[in-house]
Amino acid sequence: MEFAWAPEHEEFRRKIKAAIDRLLPSDWAEKSQYDTSSEYVSKFSRTFCPALAKEGLLIPHWPKELGGGGLDPYHHWVLGEEMIKVGEPRSYQYMNVNWAGPAIIRFGTDEQKQQHISKIVAGTHIWCQGFSEPSAGSDLAAIRTTAERTPNGYVINGSKIWTSGASLADFCFMLARTGTERYGGISVFLVPMKTPGIDVRIIPCLVGERSVHEVFFTNVEVPESARLGDENDGWKVVRAVMHNERVGMPRYALSMRVLDHAVGLLKKKNRFKDAAVRSYAAKTKAALEAARNLMLNIIDDRMKGKAPTATTSVARYALVTGDRWLLGFLNDFMYEEVMSGKDPLINVGYKRTGSTGIGAGSAEIQLNLIARDMLRLPRE
Ligand SMILES: Cc1cc2nc3c(=O)[nH]c(=O)nc-3n(C[C@H](O)[C@H](O)[C@H](O)COP(=O)(O)OP(=O)(O)OC[C@H]3O[C@@H](n4cnc5c(N)ncnc54)[C@H](O)[C@@H]3O)c2cc1C
Repeated sequence: MEFAWAPEHEEFRRKIKAAIDRLLPSDWAEKSQYDTSSEYVSKFSRTFCPALAKEGLLIPHWPKELGGGGLDPYHHWVLGEEMIKVGEPRSYQYMNVNWAGPAIIRFGTDEQKQQHISKIVAGTHIWCQGFSEPSAGSDLAAIRTTAERTPNGYVINGSKIWTSGASLADFCFMLARTGTERYGGISVFLVPMKTPGIDVRIIPCLVGERSVHEVFFTNVEVPESARLGDENDGWKVVRAVMHNERVGMPRYALSMRVLDHAVGLLKKKNRFKDAAVRSYAAKTKAALEAARNLMLNIIDDRMKGKAPTATTSVARYALVTGDRWLLGFLNDFMYEEVMSGKDPLINVGYKRTGSTGIGAGSAEIQLNLIARDMLRLPRE
């Protein structure tokens, strides 16, 4: 297997790095704290993303007729690697490109594409994902939020939890129950966050400033045109979204940067000669490299037009493993830096790695999917 990047990908990476150098302020690390979910980064994204869009760097891999650059998906991956390394200055707009936009392109009406895709391509709007509920996380099909038919459309009632970036977002890509069947009674709605009846509350959280929220829907009226796809056919959309989300973000790239930084600090303290430290660092690096290679394999499958399979869960689980190694390494050998909270890179590495095995489907759920769909193990 050939692991090297092609010259056009290297060239694209150079362009992205140059844009990052030019557009990020010199005190980015201090101000952003590499926190994707902060108010500062979200505000910054509203000028940064349009600037990237103008240079053709925001959505390199979508077809030109949709406003993309018409390049292969590896360009999108290179973009993701460079962005996450500096704390994702696109803020939650990365989700627009990774899964919300692709779902609207695939399942949306012409009107929905016109309304939403042009905004995503221009880099002006932030989306959040309203899937999880207090009684529906891993078991997502247990959602209770309802969307009842009215003469003009639907009225939505219920609540969502753990919604990332909800207080920063313009639109919510949400699930609601439109029927009684477990899987066949769910629909997707694209709802403006300013719609009357939506109440958002920040949940204070270690991962980031506005990383998770509660969102309450009380008699929220939406037109029929807010529904994405057919009524009661939302599960099909969810499955497509989850495959994209699980490998949507090359989180290993930030973890590798944090590891390199930690090793540099340990060398300065003359602690990297210790065999235990070196061995742990090597195992962490190997685990993150494995995640990188498995994720690149998924992109390769996409390039070849192969349908998503349980390999997505394998790659996601490898990422969880790599991040757990890093978390252990920071806990064991960077204890003082972690506790002081003064080093933005160590800080973000410590805060984010702990949640990798929960969001986008927990680690155990990935193992279940691998057991069922790849290993074909019996269910009992
Ligand atoms: C930082 C962060 C950001 C998030 N952002 C969003 C967001 O933007 N939008 C959104 O909708 N959700 C979001 N989530 C929610 C996330 O998707 C859920 O937390 C996740 O699906 C797990 O659901 P839960 O928290 O209800 O835990 P539960 O489903 O209650 O699981 C609890 C534990 O039980 C285990 N478990 C559950 N079922 C099984 C099973 N069948 N077999 C084996 N083990 C099992 C799980 O692995 C877990 O360890 C976010 C979560 C985090 C941590």
